[in-house]
Amino acid sequence: MTMKCPCCKIAMKELKRTFHKKRKWVCPKCGKVRFQIIKKRD
Ligand SMILES: [Zn+2]
Repeated sequence: MTMKCPCCKIAMKELKRTFHKKRKWVCPKCGKVRFQIIKKRD
């Protein structure tokens, strides 16, 4: 799964460090940070 930067329309990079069940994504171009909530599947 990948996320795209809303500004640059390019793929964001996922940081390995996760916290509070969220994934952190950073745009390599503009440095914008987004969080993805990790959902549990039963
Ligand atoms: Zn960007």
